[in-house]
Parts: sequence; structure tokens; C-alpha cells
Amino acid sequence: MPLSIAIIGSGPAGFYTADALTKACPDCRVDFIERLPTPFGLIRGGVAPDHQTTKRVAKKYENTAMMQHVHFYGNVEIGRDVSLMELRAMYDAVVLAVGAPADKKLTIPGANKIGVHGSAAFVGWYNGHPDFRDLKPDLNTNSAVVIGNGNVAVDVARVLLRSPRGMAESDLPDHVAAMIHAAPITEVHMVGRRGPADAKFTNVELREMGNLKLTNPRVRPEQLPEDLDAVLAGYDERDRRLRIRNLGTLREFSTRKDTNKPKNVYFDFFASPVEILGGEQVEAIRFERTRVENGKCLGTGEMFEIECGLVIPSIGYRSEPIEGAPFDEKQGIIPNDNGRIEAGLYAVGWIKRGPSGVISSNRPDGVIVAEYIAEDITADPDRHGRDQLEAVLKQRRIRWIGYSDWQRLEAMEIENAEGHAPRKKFVTVEDMIHALDGLPN
Ligand code: NAP
Repeated sequence: MPLSIAIIGSGPAGFYTADALTKACPDCRVDFIERLPTPFGLIRGGVAPDHQTTKRVAKKYENTAMMQHVHFYGNVEIGRDVSLMELRAMYDAVVLAVGAPADKKLTIPGANKIGVHGSAAFVGWYNGHPDFRDLKPDLNTNSAVVIGNGNVAVDVARVLLRSPRGMAESDLPDHVAAMIHAAPITEVHMVGRRGPADAKFTNVELREMGNLKLTNPRVRPEQLPEDLDAVLAGYDERDRRLRIRNLGTLREFSTRKDTNKPKNVYFDFFASPVEILGGEQVEAIRFERTRVENGKCLGTGEMFEIECGLVIPSIGYRSEPIEGAPFDEKQGIIPNDNGRIEAGLYAVGWIKRGPSGVISSNRPDGVIVAEYIAEDITADPDRHGRDQLEAVLKQRRIRWIGYSDWQRLEAMEIENAEGHAPRKKFVTVEDMIHALDGLPN
């Protein structure tokens, strides 16, 4: 009897696990349970709309989704439509691949003011994620502050500054494009609490900021280190090379002559946010200057303010607890032993190890868990996997979205695209269901 395995979440970690399972136990039946009607997680909802080449990895995931023993149940939410406990009774093994969808909270006074949007929400909004369709950020300001020095901060800054022409081949939703391109934002400040040598963004992403048609990259040369050995002492060889490349790019930015480009992105380092100022609406943000000692960021007591009408804290993500599974509140992950949680329950990706790494970093997680499942689990004749799941979903009148439904949706998105855009996304679940089934009577 073949094993029945449910993978909760259909982002990269889920797909690498499914692919590895089809190799580790070729007969097993693998079912994706996905909250949204659409697959691919952060590939669709997180990777920036102008990074279409990165999004192409979804074509590889599609090969997995099309395999005979792999099924997709979209628009099915754990805890709302079916519980984890129920799934564990139906399947021989359940793999949690739900990622880290929430913002790590910025806990300074004023962080709840209108005009402050965490990057999970803001990135979701500009990517047409249904959860953030109604975010409606007020972009009527000439100055925005992006807090953080990771790749998400770079994505946010670039999407705010990129010209309509630069975005022409993106899948930025129309309502988002209309707002961003009408916004008077000309100054974006990307502020990191540590130094330029400690920034987490990668070099390709940083260099892209120097190639924007309408934007000057601004770096203050006095913030760049003279003594590389001193600032890179704590990093291993590979990290040193990456950071030296970033420092070279920042130095090149710092030597650029004035141009007539109308917008600026300021890379400001050694500044930790202490308070967001204003009435109901953000008007400025106060930072404390820092210095870095032995990798630690220490306040100097010197304060300064940046006037702005929009603040996007891009300071990392957080997983959320799932009813029926343990959760480590402090680390924001499910406690696990390299993917094993407890008998029959496994974790991969960001819910396993926290929100870091690139897309392919999820592959080894999937391979390891597939090997564990092949080792740990034998099929239980009382667990019928998808037959039981479908019976329950039918009984509860859940309109699940199969992979062929998604392919129909995708074909419509591609057909509806205008100009050079690759697709015109459906941005609400209702629109997706209506597009598939027509309007309800
Ligand atoms: P990240 O790389 O962990 O960066 C988070 C940034 O926020 C860091 O600069 C961190 O500073 C700062 N930060 C954290 N808490 C803060 C606080 N309380 N106050 C001020 N600053 C704070 O996270 P991310 O940018 O969200 O990216 C998540 C992962 O996705 C990363 O692995 C990233 O490379 C990946 N990603 C990749 C791409 C791409 O390849 N193009 C695009 C997007 C995301 P410290 O360093 O001082 O902690």
C-alpha cells in the first residue's frame, strides 16, 4: 500500500519536498494543501514583480505538480476548513511548509501610526496577494524610509523608485502600478542599524539600485570602512568575499557625480530606529546613531530625524503557530530535529529554520525530510489520504482548487495581460472563483 503524505503549503519548501518524496518513495501519494487558490507561495507573492527571471523557477515546480501521484488542494485552509489533527488521522505523514508569513514587529513608539506598513504586508500588496488587496497605503509623500538592510528592503526601495518603463515587463497589479507611479516619492532612505560591511543584501540586488533610470544611489563615503580586516574579522571566507563586493559597489556609488536624475535612494548606516513621530499619521522617524563593536550594534546617544510620510520596516519575517503543532515563540519556529517534529509530523523551510536564505536553500530541507519519511513511516491501512480529505471537503462544501483549475486561472491571467506584462493577476479569492465557476446564481 502506498504512503499518503500531505504537504501543508505550496511554496518552494513544499515543492522541493514533493519532488524529493517522488524520488525517495516513488509510489507515495503526495497532496498539497494550500490556503490560497494559487500555488508557489513566495514565488508568486514575495519575489518582486520585476524579478520575473527568478519567478521562472515555478515552471520546475509545475513538473512536480503534474506528476501522476501528486495532487493540489488549493483554497483549503488548515484550522478553517480542516484541522491539522484531522489531516494527521487521514495521512501517514504531514509536512508543514507554511513559511513565515507575518512581519517581525518593530517595537518602538509610534510603530502603529498610519503610514507604517511592515514589509510582509507591503510586498504582499504590490505582488497582488489577496490578503493585502485592501492595504491602500498612502503614498502621497515625497519621502519614504525603508528600515533594514536585507534583500527585502532593497526590493521595496526599488519598487517604490522604478520607472513605469522599468516596470513594464513586471506583473505589478494595475491598482498598485497606478498608485506607485502617481506617487510623488522622490527620496527613499534605506537605513541599516549596523555598518555597510554587515548589510545582508546580496550584490546583484545592490548593483541593480545603481542602474535605475530615474534614481541616484547616494552613499556617504565617511560611512565606508577604511580597514576591511577590522570590520570583516567575524565573517568566514565566503561571507567576506560577498561583503567586499558590496563595499566595492557602495564605494562606487559614493563617487558618482551629480546627475539630473530626479530621484534618490540614500543608503544610511549605523542608525537604529527609536521612535516614529507625528499625529495619527507618520511625519518623521527618529534614529539613534550607532557604532558596531565585535558585531554588536551599540547606541551612541546621538539622535537625528528623517521627515517622511511612509515607513516600511523590512526587518524580517515570522512564522505563526499552527493549532495542533508545538511552537517556539521566542525563535518563531516549530521546534524540530532537522525537520522531524514528532512521529508523522515534519517541518521544512522557514517554519523549520527561520526566515533566511535564498529559494534554493529550501531544497536540502525537502530532501532530508523525504529521506526521514521513507525511513520512519509505513503505510497504515486506516489512513486513506486524499479519499478521506475529499470526502470531508465535499461534506463541508469547500470549493477546492485542483491543479488543473489553477492552470485555467493562469491561462486567463496570461491572456488578460496587457503590453509587455507576463500576466494580469487575479488579486482576490472571489475573483478567482468567479473566473473559474462564473458568478453564483
Ligand atoms: P534579512 O536578510 O534578515 O534582513 C533583515 C534586516 O533587518 C537586517 O538588516 C537586520 O539588521 C534588520 N533588522 C532586524 N531587526 C531590526 C530592528 N529591530 N531594527 C532595525 N533593523 C532591524 O531579512 P529579509 O530582508 O526580510 O529577507 C529574508 C530572506 O529572504 C533573506 O535570506 C533574503 O536574502 C531573502 N530574499 C532574497 C531576495 C533575492 O535573492 N533577491 C529577495 C528578497 C528576500 P541586523 O543585520 O542588524 O540584524
